Amino acid sequence: MTRKLSIYNSLSREKEALVPITEGRLGMYVCGPTVYNDVHLGNCRTFVSFDIIYRYLLKAGYKVRYVRNITDVGHLLDDGEDRMSKGARLDQLEPMEVAQKYTHGFHEMMQIFNTLSPSIEPRATGHIIEQIKMVHDILDRGYAYIKNGSVYFDTPKFIKDGHPYGKLSGRIVEDLLTETRDNLKNQDEKNHPSDFALWIKATEEHIMRWESPWSVGFPGWHLECSAMSTKYLGENFDIHGGGNDLKFPHHENEIAQNVGSCGHAPAKYWLHTNMLLLNGKKMSKSDGNTISPPELFSGQSEHISKAYSPMVVKFFMMQAHYRSPLDITDDALQAAEKGFKRLMETLRIAQEHQPTLPATGNKDLEIQKIIDGIWANMDDDFNVPNALSGIFELSGIINSIKDGHLKSEEVGDNSWKEMCSFILDFVHQVMALKNENEESDVKTVGGLMDLIIDLRKDIREKKDWAASDKIRDALLELGIQLKDGKAGTEWNRS
Ligand code: AMP
Ligand code: ZN
Repeated sequence: MTRKLSIYNSLSREKEALVPITEGRLGMYVCGPTVYNDVHLGNCRTFVSFDIIYRYLLKAGYKVRYVRNITDVGHLLDDGEDRMSKGARLDQLEPMEVAQKYTHGFHEMMQIFNTLSPSIEPRATGHIIEQIKMVHDILDRGYAYIKNGSVYFDTPKFIKDGHPYGKLSGRIVEDLLTETRDNLKNQDEKNHPSDFALWIKATEEHIMRWESPWSVGFPGWHLECSAMSTKYLGENFDIHGGGNDLKFPHHENEIAQNVGSCGHAPAKYWLHTNMLLLNGKKMSKSDGNTISPPELFSGQSEHISKAYSPMVVKFFMMQAHYRSPLDITDDALQAAEKGFKRLMETLRIAQEHQPTLPATGNKDLEIQKIIDGIWANMDDDFNVPNALSGIFELSGIINSIKDGHLKSEEVGDNSWKEMCSFILDFVHQVMALKNENEESDVKTVGGLMDLIIDLRKDIREKKDWAASDKIRDALLELGIQLKDGKAGTEWNRS
């Protein structure tokens, strides 16, 4: 059984019932990072939002194929230079080396924020053949033209044939004339300024280049997502997502390419996350208006008074709905830190007390109502902030029981049990928050044990058996058992 969800579709600008194309299954494509420099916190907000969406869809009983690409070619700068080649020249590295380095950094960051890996993570450079094939299909259907070895999408023809170019972003084609930023260098080659490049002939100095029927060149940025979503999710799939700054031109052009190559739009629902702001302005790599995650975790930024841990930052991100902008400030981070600590304390209590309590079958309707409310908020376009207030209501009840203000019998043993397991499950599996102190304690104990075993080895080599036994017995009292074997000494909790 799957839960019934309603989600906001940017295409219709309305909340709609989520009805999968194939019952019980969902295909979701999310535009991934451009790996030409370090991922910034704004990017992280978008990927964390989609991680919660992905996790909730799984929790709601759907089988989800989640595809998130890596853009390692084709995302042009305003001056027409490929971002990857620019990164390469500045760093004196091969383009693939740059891509590898920042892809690795991105993955590390996604792990730090405790997000799940997508089901498939295709790279644009690994799908040049599929992209060339799509250009062929668009040319065959008459929606593209060739100019000096480059291929451009013919937007006036597309509009003339009754296709809705501009529907997603709400723009009209006349407005697009001045706004298109796509490959300005070759602007004069285009028949119309709102046309965009599908394939670009490489200049002498351009490093990333492939053979094609039109020229030795490289694909346009928008093409990769059309080609890869079609390859892994089919011509028609359920959800397409990304930050709302991608609506135009990227997503608008993706739709045009899909319609232009196969006759129909790719996705049924378009989900767009809102921006993370710094000083009231969009956080952006190219404008330099950013705090990097490492700066935030170490406290080394002029914008903050202290260090904030990754889970506190993630919890801060959950304070706003994914469709609302979120301004990062020191005050908001401090408030998030307090809230996060309170929640972790509740989880500790829930974990400690949950298994020992006997259930007598009593149920508390108020508690059931709060739990149902949390589900309902998540079903309603993934309203995490509202779900969080429900979580904090439960947290308040759990804390009052712990503090003796409320007796567990008063809420009914069954409700107490249910409340504990619900909050543990929801916070760990949907919000994917974890107690960092516990983790660092595990690391510290591991390090200390390595040290003690090493020192005891020296003692044993000096045949000081009394001291060696003293250490072993003292550890045993602390619940740690040492086992001396041929390969050395191992330890476990007895
Ligand atoms: P990029 O690496 O620039 O292609 O961006 C990767 C993802 O991050 C895209 O979905 C963008 O829409 C998103 N993004 C970029 N800046 C921000 C921001 N300030 N807040 C939230 N998401 C952002
Ligand atoms: Zn994309």
